Amino acid sequence: MVQKEADFPVARPSSDVAPKWVYYFSAVDAEGGADHKNLLGGKGANLAEMASLGLPVPPGFTITTEVCGIYYASGRQLPDGLVPQVERALEKIGQETGARFGDEENPLLVAVRSGSRASMPGMMDTILNLGLNDRTVLGLARRSGDDRFAYDSYRRFIQMYGDVVLGIDHTAFEDILDNFKNLNGYSFDTELGADEWRAVIALYKAAIEDALGKPFPQDTGEQLWGAIGAVFGSWLNARAVTYRRLHAIPDDWGTAVNVQAMVFGNMGNTSATGVAFTRNPSTGANEIYGEYLINAQGEDVVSGIRTPQALTARARREAEDPNPSLEEEMPESFAELRQIFDVLEKRYRDMQDIEFTIQDGKVWMLQTRSGKRTAEASIKIAVDMADEGILSHDEAVLRVDPSSFTQLLHPTIDPAGEKELLTMGLPASPGAASGRIVFNSDEAEHQKKQGHEVILVRTETSPEDIHGMHASAGILTARGGMTSHAAVVARGMGVPCVSGAGALRINEKAETLSIGPKTLKAGDIITIDGATGRVYVGAVPMRQPQLSGDFARLIGWADDARGLAVRANADTPKDARQARSFGAQGIGLCRTEHMFFDAQRILAMREMICATNEAGRRSALAKILPFQRADFIELFEIMGELPVTIRLLDPPLHEFLPRHDRELEAVAAELKMPIEKLKARVAELSEFNPMLGLRGSRLAIRYPEITEMQARAIFEAAAEAEKRLGASVVPEIMIPLVAYRREFDILAGVIRSLAETVEKETGIHLDYKLGTMIELPRACLKADELARGDDGAEFFSFGTNDLTQTVLGLSRDDASPILSAYSTQGIYEADPFVSIDQEGVGELVATGVARGRAEKPDLKIGICGEHGGDPDSVAFFHKLGFDYVSCSPFRVPIARLAAAQAAIRAKLDSA
Ligand code: PEP
Ligand code: MG
Repeated sequence: MVQKEADFPVARPSSDVAPKWVYYFSAVDAEGGADHKNLLGGKGANLAEMASLGLPVPPGFTITTEVCGIYYASGRQLPDGLVPQVERALEKIGQETGARFGDEENPLLVAVRSGSRASMPGMMDTILNLGLNDRTVLGLARRSGDDRFAYDSYRRFIQMYGDVVLGIDHTAFEDILDNFKNLNGYSFDTELGADEWRAVIALYKAAIEDALGKPFPQDTGEQLWGAIGAVFGSWLNARAVTYRRLHAIPDDWGTAVNVQAMVFGNMGNTSATGVAFTRNPSTGANEIYGEYLINAQGEDVVSGIRTPQALTARARREAEDPNPSLEEEMPESFAELRQIFDVLEKRYRDMQDIEFTIQDGKVWMLQTRSGKRTAEASIKIAVDMADEGILSHDEAVLRVDPSSFTQLLHPTIDPAGEKELLTMGLPASPGAASGRIVFNSDEAEHQKKQGHEVILVRTETSPEDIHGMHASAGILTARGGMTSHAAVVARGMGVPCVSGAGALRINEKAETLSIGPKTLKAGDIITIDGATGRVYVGAVPMRQPQLSGDFARLIGWADDARGLAVRANADTPKDARQARSFGAQGIGLCRTEHMFFDAQRILAMREMICATNEAGRRSALAKILPFQRADFIELFEIMGELPVTIRLLDPPLHEFLPRHDRELEAVAAELKMPIEKLKARVAELSEFNPMLGLRGSRLAIRYPEITEMQARAIFEAAAEAEKRLGASVVPEIMIPLVAYRREFDILAGVIRSLAETVEKETGIHLDYKLGTMIELPRACLKADELARGDDGAEFFSFGTNDLTQTVLGLSRDDASPILSAYSTQGIYEADPFVSIDQEGVGELVATGVARGRAEKPDLKIGICGEHGGDPDSVAFFHKLGFDYVSCSPFRVPIARLAAAQAAIRAKLDSA
């Protein structure tokens, strides 16, 4: 090596026995493999694996993720002992390739790439063509016999190094290049020859010297260590940090650094670079899918600078693209790739996402990893692979991410609806979405916070847009293919996206977009259809999703595997129908106060709350009774033989008290109360901590007439539904916010006596179950008392929303600003209201289960907090021996799959 050690940010090696920090890979010697993912990162492990399978991988080495840890622990210093290991590995690459790093005659050039345990596409840094300087570029030109190629590579290197390592904004280089092209009358990069690139290089170098006060580094060793440091440093760049937060990837995993001999896709027209999926990542169809560019390097494909061509002849025909596919243009290389894809799919038993380069007719593999895919594709691939005998049913079930089902629940455009087509692009990520046009990511985030749906419209997106993409209902770009940043990231996020709508003219400054003579401005509504690539003016009619075909088969296999039942939280007949259509096995929570959100009903509810005496309350309750009864009858009818759990009224008062003058006037009129008196009553009822105030069983104990009305409504409805259905209806009645056995007994007494009354009145025998929510710490601790005896609770339903609130002492209503600070600082691994805090809240849940079951071994136990639809929490409840989880209807399919995965994993663990 030619670099001076004194320039390195590395202490001198103090001993010869440093741990092994560098793993070599090539067809001759692969020191790692797919099972080294934690140490070598996904990219490094898979390169080593491909090398050991005998596939054509350019030789290289991986610096382990451990070094990343050391780098940060020691104030961004690389450890002693790394230098000789890197030098030895670099030497070895040289021996295999016949070139030498820094050599002026035959220079070895390397790519330096990040690669963490979990794939984080585009989030960290890469530097290509490293090892070029004013002298080695001459050697490269001579050896390749291609001046243009050598100088094109050199300018790419300066551009990337300048941006990534030297911290000069990449737009500075883009501006220089654009100016140069404009001044000299060029439209495309491909029109520039060696002399032009030399001129551009001089401008780049001058700009760097201007900005930094020192020249672009000519020392190849300094270049290499600068790049290694920058790649480790990129682990903590803002977009990588955001990405990890969004994907729950721990910060302490770190990245590995891969240093690999360069192969060149930009060596003329017999060279190319491309990306491929072994199956279609949008639909899951078993067909090679991807794009390539002749005479280009990898970043050209993903950056969207040039529009890439299709890999297969079929895809080209379907896209009506006049440019030849790789299959047609380079049939031998395509056939070799097809064979390699087969080997990789068999080895990994999964769809692969591949990067390759063809250098002068020779195929090289640069990356393979499990490919990101839409939910639809994920299901189809799992089901197909089970049918192909590659996976068992259980394995197929494990392959699908339950949370990805939310994508399937996206609406689609109603083909019969009226619409005005604006333009067309590529169908980059499925689903349809309408929203206001916004032209930048900060604005997207801002508008989303204001409660608006937005469509982010960009020429092309970059990793800096990640927060805006996340906040958007849909994304529309003017440039870029199906594997452009926008397309890949949107698919991963499940956000609908249309990319490469080439007819769009975007003026970001003026905040307008135009297509021909038509101009729209920021705030105008458009609709995009990510399944077809169509873009429409205004909001267009949508259709709700159907879950059938492969989905039905997969979820059927999941249902075979799972032990936990899945119910839904449903308050209205509409919710109940939705829940049934998604396969809910009953209602686990009907929040009766939610039956009163409608304008006419909320008036009666307010009247009841604000009444100053029992007579006033009873008169309001009499108005409420028929609504409740009618809703319950409908719920029982919809759910038929399935259980329905109805919870007594639990209205946190602040959600229901009248606030505005209009509301106050309406309530005052009903109560025949002067408005001033009503205001005084509202003030009297206002609480400092309504979530911990007069709600749940406390409200019912203070005003038992409320429970009387509700019990009557439930029993009369059950009697009526029995008649209509001709089958018995067994309501499960649940008492909320109980801490003491005595609370349960008092309210159970009211309910039982109402049951007797209604039995007498109707002459129908009523069967029902009485249970309690467990949502306060005391209830968990005294679960044995609550369950004790025949007249104790017959079932428990854990209310983990309130339990989380009360165990953490963190208000459900005021948590959000605290949550973001707490997750940024790593205090909460996940939002505890989304994914249950297993160690703290979970321990109380476990205590409640154990104490309740110790008293009553067959006690039925469920959960109806929001955690019932969170896959990690579902797995936890499975482990604790719950009978069911209950979640919002749209999350029922997620919970069914998550419950199955928990059961399968438990089976695998115990085997
Ligand atoms: C709970 O607290 O978890 C629960 C389901 O009840 P609510 O959200 O209505 O308070
Ligand atoms: Mg609750």
